[in-house]
Amino acid sequence: MTHRVTLIPGDGIGPEVCDAARRAVEAAGVAVEWDVQEFGAEAYLRDGPPLLERVIASVRERGVALKGPTSTPSGSGFRSINIALRRDLDLYAGVRPCRALPGVATPFPQTDVVVVRMNTEDLYAGIEYDRDADAAATLREIVAGTHGTDLPADTGISLKPLSRSGAVRAARAAFEYARANGRRRVTAVHKATVMRATDGLFLEACREVAAGYDDLEFDDRLVDNACAKLVMQPQDCDVLVMPMLYGDIVSDVAAGLVGGLGVAPGANLGDGAAVFEAVHGSAPRHAGRNRANPFALMLSGAMLLRHVGEAEAAARLEAAIADVTREGRTLTYDLARNAQPAGTSEVADAVVERLR
Ligand code: NAD
Repeated sequence: MTHRVTLIPGDGIGPEVCDAARRAVEAAGVAVEWDVQEFGAEAYLRDGPPLLERVIASVRERGVALKGPTSTPSGSGFRSINIALRRDLDLYAGVRPCRALPGVATPFPQTDVVVVRMNTEDLYAGIEYDRDADAAATLREIVAGTHGTDLPADTGISLKPLSRSGAVRAARAAFEYARANGRRRVTAVHKATVMRATDGLFLEACREVAAGYDDLEFDDRLVDNACAKLVMQPQDCDVLVMPMLYGDIVSDVAAGLVGGLGVAPGANLGDGAAVFEAVHGSAPRHAGRNRANPFALMLSGAMLLRHVGEAEAAARLEAAIADVTREGRTLTYDLARNAQPAGTSEVADAVVERLR
């Protein structure tokens, strides 16, 4: 069977790591027909919304995409097109596994943790008001009238909307992932002690969903406590599900435990589409220099293969990557401890060679 997949090279280091991941996926022995779609900060500044619409149409039609990172120029007033893509495709759950690879230096070689985060709600929903906006003044008045709290007149406001239905589907995604991938326990991570209206709602939804999964253990932790646990005993953490902002931070911490962003894959899952992309961004200072580590996007490619029912090919690809890291001779600058660093394309060659 030929799989139809949208391929989004992105910008910065995106095109280089995407080329490496595409070669690795193909070498795993699966037939793929790629629909290559341009999608990056510059392209968006040039084409505007039609660019986003084209990419969305392609992903909707194929149901699955492999995506390189795309930049958000800071201070340009330009909102992240990544967030727009996830929102418009309703990719409500972000799944980020962090597993130690053989030969990659880590004080915790037993680490095998999966962070599942809400992707479309919480503080990253992007509903915010600058301190001098009329809407901020109106909100300050509402807060004074309903809550009795006088916010200073120069207060900017970012809203943290979190719905019960959104929490339920993110929790379900976490339990389903745990079940499908032979995991043991799901832990809800929150700050319900302080934010009862949102994190409290999230925890309640997780508890309800957990009741339908007798085969899996469930517990919960405050986010600060979960972070301490993660960096002291990561081997005791399994699948962690949480609102978006915590997930954004915790997944980078977890990536750091197993070798950094260069080895952290991810998936954005919705009911009608799934976009697989590394946790890392476009790392502009490494762009075009054949320096970036392609493992994170290759491992995202393995997640994609599993998602489309090609579990054996996924396992082959993961094993080939593990062979390359175990051997330790062909690694990019971020992993090459004692050896001369290899380039992105040499690492791709090494993985492809093993798959042959
Ligand atoms: P980043 O992840 O791009 O880079 C941070 C640092 O991590 C880099 O300087 C580099 O040292 C290291 N790094 C990241 N990926 C690497 C790789 N594959 N190999 C080796 N080293 C790697 O984060 P940033 O600098 O905060 O963001 C840069 C841009 O990327 C921003 O415009 C941001 O908006 C965007 N971004 C995009 C996505 C996405 O497309 N999903 C995600 C995060 C950030």
